[in-house]
Amino acid sequence: MRRRTFCTAGLAALAASALPLRRVRAAGAEIGALGLDGRQLMLTAADVADLRAGLRGELLTAGDAGYDDARRLWNAAFDRKPALIARCAGAADVMRAVSFASAHGLLTSVRGGGHSLSGQSVCDGGLEIDLSPMHSVHVDPAAKLARVEPGTLIGQFDRESQAFGLATTAGTAADTGIAGLTLGGGFGRIGPKYGLTIDNLTGVEVVTADGKLLRADAHENPDLFWGLRGGGGNFGVVTSFEYRLHPVGPMLYGGEITFPFAGSRQLMRSFVDYIANAPDELCVLPEFDIDAKDGPSLAFDVCYCGPPADGERVLAPLRALGKPVSDKLGPASYVRLQGAADPVKPFPYGSYFKGGMARALTPALIDATVDFIDATPVPFGFALIGFQPLGSAANRVAPNATAFWNRHARYDMVLASFWKVPGEGAERNTEWTRAAWARLEPYTEGYYVNLGESQQDVHTHRVQTAYGDNYARLVALKKRYDPANLFRLNANIKPA
Ligand SMILES: Cc1cc2nc3c(=O)[nH]c(=O)nc-3n(C[C@H](O)[C@H](O)[C@H](O)COP(=O)(O)OP(=O)(O)OC[C@H]3O[C@@H](n4cnc5c(N)ncnc54)[C@H](O)[C@@H]3O)c2cc1C
Repeated sequence: MRRRTFCTAGLAALAASALPLRRVRAAGAEIGALGLDGRQLMLTAADVADLRAGLRGELLTAGDAGYDDARRLWNAAFDRKPALIARCAGAADVMRAVSFASAHGLLTSVRGGGHSLSGQSVCDGGLEIDLSPMHSVHVDPAAKLARVEPGTLIGQFDRESQAFGLATTAGTAADTGIAGLTLGGGFGRIGPKYGLTIDNLTGVEVVTADGKLLRADAHENPDLFWGLRGGGGNFGVVTSFEYRLHPVGPMLYGGEITFPFAGSRQLMRSFVDYIANAPDELCVLPEFDIDAKDGPSLAFDVCYCGPPADGERVLAPLRALGKPVSDKLGPASYVRLQGAADPVKPFPYGSYFKGGMARALTPALIDATVDFIDATPVPFGFALIGFQPLGSAANRVAPNATAFWNRHARYDMVLASFWKVPGEGAERNTEWTRAAWARLEPYTEGYYVNLGESQQDVHTHRVQTAYGDNYARLVALKKRYDPANLFRLNANIKPA
C-alpha cells in the first residue's frame, strides 16, 4: 500500500454519527428534510422552487446530476445525503441559502473544500451550503494581499500567489479547502516563520445567520473578526477571505526523509535537541507511519523557506541523525512541496482521527508513542501518529489576540487510522486510534478544532479546551450573531 504523509491534525467520525434519516421525496415534489431540532420538516414545492429561482448557482436534490459529487467528502467514512444542496455562485446565493435555512429552521452544513475530518460539512437530511463553485483568487502583488473565495483549495491559492513569488501559511496538503482551514487556525509549512493562517488574515466578508453580508476586519466589526480567527464556522458563512502575503521562494529546500522504526526512540530525542536551535525558516513535521503490511517507519516532512543553499546546510544535522531508508530532501518549489502529500482523488479511504496539543515532545511522550506503536500493529490499511508544529511565530501571538487560544502549544499531535472504502477496517482501525489516544491523551492539553472530532466524541468541555479563557467571549459573540445556533455542525460553541 502506498504510504501517505497526512501532515496534520484531525479526527474523523464513522458513519455512525449520521443523524437518523427519514428523507422523503414526496409526490408533488414536497421535500422531507430535517430541522435544527432533529424533527422532520416538509418543505413545500413552492418554497423549494422559490429558492431555486433565487439562486445564480444550482439547487440539487437526490438524483440530480452532480448531487453525489457535491456531497462527497475527503473522508470516505461518510456517505451523507442532504435534502438540498445549494451550489452557491456568489455571496448573494449564500445570503439566499442562509435566509432560507433560518426561515425554515433547517439543519444546515457549510462546505468549503470538503476536507472536514468529522464529516460535518455535509449533513443528512438538511441543507448543504456548497461553496466549492466559488474559487476565484485575486492577488495584488504591490500590496502583497490576496482576496480568496471560500471554495478555493490551498493548492489553487498557492499557485496564484506563487506566480508573484508570494505565499502565506496555508496547510500542508494541496487539496485542503482554504475556508475550513483558515477559520480553525491553519498550520502550514511556512508557519514557523509567518504564523498561523489566521495571523495573516486581514479581513473577511461573512453572511451571518440573519442572511446579512458583513465586513469584518480590524476596524469594522472587530469583535466578529476576532471570533472568526479560530472560532471555526460558528458565526456565519465566510464568502471572501483577505490575506497578507510574504515573499516565499519559489525555490525552497525540503521534501521527506524516512528512517527505520528501530532506533526511532533515540532519533526522536536527538530531533528535539536539533529543532530547538533551528531557525524560523525551518518547519519539520515528524510522523510515524504505520502500514498494516510493512510495519512502522519514522518520516520527517521538511520545508526550509529561505535560500535552498542555506537549507541544505541547516538540514545536514537532521540527515545525520540516523541511516535513512529514503532521503528525498533537495531543492524544490514551494508549490511542489505543498502538493507532495496529494492523495489520489477521490481519496478511497475512510479515516478516524484523534489528537490534541502538546507543549513539548518530552521523552515521556516519545517513549509512550514508540511503545504503543511497537505493541499495537494497525489491523487494516495504515495509520499515523504525527506532530504538526505550530512554530515560533504562532507562539509569539498572545492567546487572547484571536479566538485561537492554545498559543503555548508547540505541536498538534495527530492520531489517525485509514481503511479502504468499501472494505473492512472501520471498526478495528477506529479501536486502534482510540487505544492510541487513551495512551497519549495525558501528554496533551488542548484541542485543535480543525481536528474535527466527530459529533459523538466532541462534548462542550472538549471544545472549551480549544478556547480556554476566550470561551466566554465566544459564547457572547455566538449569542449575538447566531442565537438559534443555525451554524452548529462544527466544533460547536453553544449560544446558551
Ligand atoms: C489531508 C488533510 C490535510 C490537512 N492538513 C492540514 C494542515 O496542514 N494544517 C491544518 O491546520 N489543518 C489541516 N487539515 C485539517 C483542515 O484544516 C480541516 O479539515 C478543515 O476543516 C478543512 O477545510 P475545508 O474547507 O476543506 O473543509 P470543509 O469540510 O469544507 O469544511 C469544514 C468545516 O469548516 C466550516 N466551513 C467551511 N467553509 C466555511 C465558510 N466559508 N464559512 C464558514 N464555515 C466554513 C464548516 O463548519 C465545515 O463543517 C487537513 C485535513 C486533511 C483532510
